[in-house]
Amino acid sequence: MHWADNLVKDLEGKQLVSTGISPSGPIHVGNMREILTGDMIYKAALKKGLDSRFIYLCDDIDPLRKVYPFLDQTYSAYVGYPLSSIPAPDGGPSYSEYFLKPFLEALSKIDVNVEVIRTTGLYREGRFERSIRIVVEKREKIREILQDLSGREIEENWFPYNPRCRRCGRINSTVVTSFDLPLIHYRCSCGNEGSSDIRKDEGKMPWRVEWPAKWFELGVTIEPFGKDHGAAGGSYDTGKRIAEEVFGIKAPVPLIYERIFLKGVGVMHSSTGISIPASDMVNYAPPQILRFIIARTNPGRHINFDPGAGLLNLVDEFEKYQKAYDGLEEVKDDDYREVYEYSRIQGRESRSGISFRHLVTLVQIYTTPHDLLRIMKKSGYEGDKLDDEMAWEIQIARNWISKYAPDIVKFRVMPEDYRANLNQDEKDILREFVQQAINIKWTPEDIHNAVHEILKKRNVPPKEGFGSFYKAIIGKEQGPRLGYFLSNMDRNFVIKRLEYNISA
Ligand SMILES: [Zn+2]
Repeated sequence: MHWADNLVKDLEGKQLVSTGISPSGPIHVGNMREILTGDMIYKAALKKGLDSRFIYLCDDIDPLRKVYPFLDQTYSAYVGYPLSSIPAPDGGPSYSEYFLKPFLEALSKIDVNVEVIRTTGLYREGRFERSIRIVVEKREKIREILQDLSGREIEENWFPYNPRCRRCGRINSTVVTSFDLPLIHYRCSCGNEGSSDIRKDEGKMPWRVEWPAKWFELGVTIEPFGKDHGAAGGSYDTGKRIAEEVFGIKAPVPLIYERIFLKGVGVMHSSTGISIPASDMVNYAPPQILRFIIARTNPGRHINFDPGAGLLNLVDEFEKYQKAYDGLEEVKDDDYREVYEYSRIQGRESRSGISFRHLVTLVQIYTTPHDLLRIMKKSGYEGDKLDDEMAWEIQIARNWISKYAPDIVKFRVMPEDYRANLNQDEKDILREFVQQAINIKWTPEDIHNAVHEILKKRNVPPKEGFGSFYKAIIGKEQGPRLGYFLSNMDRNFVIKRLEYNISA
């Protein structure tokens, strides 16, 4: 059974699937596991017929923790400020919206329809008033739970609400001195003294208290989260007890997911800039692929992601699942139907039928839309012009080549006056092929077979023999699979190029 179906199989009644990512910097591919895991659980719940909602809580009232490497030093003045009230790097009004925007745009491209809720707004609208009254009243109980599970002594002046200093703007520099609800009085390290109104966004609960308060106020029933929150004594453990013993509710069903590692780099961190922005992955790869990686991997297993050569293999794999779903091929995966259903994107079920790998070759041979259309029709594309869908896939292939493709995949067809440095044996191979080229069917198989026969007869290893063709046409020793590479070019063009190369 697919992991998402398995998680919801025993659930009944209304479900609220909640996810959350702090927009403290560029939201990266690693973070996508959170939202896509949630999305698949949500879709599984809907499929089961459960009345369900799916939300993304944007923690934009969280304070800026430090000046990250991707920020300039002017941000040192804003450390401790809520992310929603810091200027954006481009001069715009909101730091959190600046990083949120490309993320939300990416979600819309991968069929994630999630209700976005900003925590600043929840505080501003007084949605946490009831929770804050409860946690203030039961603060000793909470302190006990936190100490008990974390094994740490909680500071004497700890309070389940951090007021924001009205003078210096920071949310992490005040100490609560007394309270008279709805007002909480504080003293700040800047010297200011004042009061925060819990019905407004004038402060926030600390994370470990705020998390269960969200469950309580919103009615969260299922929540995926990373293993840092899921560790023994971590924030899920304390949240669960606070939910039960302070709010009197059941904690949501947890789903702990492992991380996504970037090949050759390791864990992705927004804070170091070692990451791939989530928005990149929907513009530099077929958007289904990101869903596919998450859908086919059990959440408890980490994912090694390689946006370079590995991506092509991944797309090949996805295309196999697609064919299996259509009954054209078999894949070794009991859940292949569900994996495909959770990977596909509404309205984009029917891709062109031209594989991404093939497209990557085509767009390097042909640069004009007219030539591309002509050759794609030969490859099975139906339509008299490149539709939006196709134009978009072509653009993605070009984007990927320019940013992530390894050199071995990249090539350009050499100009007409280019002559490769070929030895006599290589020229003989090409000459024999030219003699046959007129008479064979110009298909990948027939071209491959013709070349293969020539090489076999001459006792030349395939890799070496194929190399003479690549040298003549793209000036490199290696290239895309030869039969299908040549078949994508005009027969006369290929013959002319080869003749020119053997003529000197
Ligand atoms: Zn202050």
